[in-house]
Amino acid sequence: MAPRLLRAPWVPHIQGTGDVVRAMGKKQPAKTSAARDSRPAQAKPPLPKSLRAQLAEVADPLLFLEGLFTHSPVPYSVFTADGRCLLTNPAYRAMFGREPPPDYNVLQDEIAESQGLTGLIRRAFAGETVTTPTIWYDPKELTHINVSDANRVAISCTFFPLASPGGRVGHVAIAYKDVTGELLAQERAEHERDLLRALIEQSGDGIIVSDAAGVVRIFNPAAERQHGVVRQEVSAPDWSAAYGLLDLEGRPLPLAETPLYRAVNGEQVTNARWQVRRPDGEVRTLEGTAAPLRTSAHAPAGGVLVARDVTEQRRMEDEQRRMAAELHDAVRARDEFLSIASHELKSPLTSLSLRLQVLERQIAEAPDSPLASSARRYVETGRKQLKRLSALVGDLLDVSRIQAGRLKLEREPIDLGPLVQEVVHRHAPEAERAGSRLVPPQDAEVVGMWDRMRIEQVVTNLVDNAIKYGAGKPIMIQIEKKHRRAILTVRDQGIGIEPQNLERIFERFERAVSGRHYGGLGLGLYITRQVVEAHGGSLRVESAVGEGSTFTVELPLEPDRALPDPGR
Ligand code: ADP
Repeated sequence: MAPRLLRAPWVPHIQGTGDVVRAMGKKQPAKTSAARDSRPAQAKPPLPKSLRAQLAEVADPLLFLEGLFTHSPVPYSVFTADGRCLLTNPAYRAMFGREPPPDYNVLQDEIAESQGLTGLIRRAFAGETVTTPTIWYDPKELTHINVSDANRVAISCTFFPLASPGGRVGHVAIAYKDVTGELLAQERAEHERDLLRALIEQSGDGIIVSDAAGVVRIFNPAAERQHGVVRQEVSAPDWSAAYGLLDLEGRPLPLAETPLYRAVNGEQVTNARWQVRRPDGEVRTLEGTAAPLRTSAHAPAGGVLVARDVTEQRRMEDEQRRMAAELHDAVRARDEFLSIASHELKSPLTSLSLRLQVLERQIAEAPDSPLASSARRYVETGRKQLKRLSALVGDLLDVSRIQAGRLKLEREPIDLGPLVQEVVHRHAPEAERAGSRLVPPQDAEVVGMWDRMRIEQVVTNLVDNAIKYGAGKPIMIQIEKKHRRAILTVRDQGIGIEPQNLERIFERFERAVSGRHYGGLGLGLYITRQVVEAHGGSLRVESAVGEGSTFTVELPLEPDRALPDPGR
């Protein structure tokens, strides 16, 4: 396609036939300056000079018109009377991205034809000025020529004929109004509106939009399903009745509490809950978020509500709450029972113990009586059982004391070495029966301010467990002093503890062994840790299954003055 230079075909005719005409038939005769001059100067104001006369004053009219045409922001093209393109200006080429190919013929334009514009164009070529409606025009859709690289534009075209000598239409010029930007924006807006509409229609959440006057404008299908009704033509005060709105207790929902109404009044509402009674009588719980709507100028424009049906979720929450309350009651009942039972069990045990003492004394007074030797054996067994029973009841009592925050410490200076030696000594027979050897600590002076009975209980519990779960292997007990803390370790080489149970065993009634093989209530470690912590210390365990366990107690030598102390 050879670039066409700007020529001005009409210039030779300007002086002869007038310039651009509106309609060839209605051409006004050109007024000569002589004719104007013949009118009385004072009677009428001077008429404006004709374009031709004005151009005559310009040194180089061709250059002048060429500049006008070239720099006009309006896209122009000029066609010959047989429909071929003669000229385009830069604005035209910027709009289409190119000029028409040499074989393009506006009278054969298929796009114009498909839009029903051919007749209009022909009228222009017959001498009329015509303007087309706005159309989308894509040169790539032309079929009488092949155009592969041109812009699709939205244009309205004004065709105006240019006269040639003799009054015929010599050329037809087209001025284009380019509204591509506006139409594209409109198309985009329509597309967005379609998307939004689809979103609202398809949404699983109920979407309700009210305008500023409280008239519901959008009530999507999900909202219809939730309420069992379609959009109602009612004002805000009637929403409650029209849509069956209820509060969570089943009373009609007051307008001021209705989330959408609150949003219409400028409030942001999050996770509100209310109920709806559908026409079929079913009551559902909805949960939703509502927000005020504003115009682009920030004026109130209503509100939007997005709501979900949470009936099942609410049912489950109620059930969970009920179960948690039941559990709480059950735990309290158990603790109360433990507290009462342990106290009740203690008194007969005390009296049984006193009676055994009396019996022991009587046996001692008559050592040679025929029943004395067998009675002595029974008393001995009775003592052992009584001790075991007292220990169990003692544990239960301790648990209820700890639960009630009544664990009191009687602190006094205690040397841990002799205390541990004593416990080891007392457990030696039991360890021997289990086949384990107790290896006591080296002599070391570790003196701290502790509750003697409670620290003895700690050492006893750990040594008891080491014998019970120690699989008949040696048990090492060590003490040392480090950074103003006493460190006691009890190490066995027994069954060990699985990693997932390492923390659990310090809880109440938690055990990591079967009750069939090992007796116990699962309270010893719980009480031990509570006692150690009451002293401001810590208890931890390291263990490997089949290799053994090491329990480590760390106790500050002095109570930390900054912390509350159960002993004070
Ligand atoms: P009990 O010994 O009465 O079950 P404890 O509170 O003393 O209660 O111990 C809790 C659980 O911790 C035991 O049931 C046992 O599974 C585990 N356990 C405690 N000490 C040891 C140990 N030295 N070796 C292996 N397991 C132990």
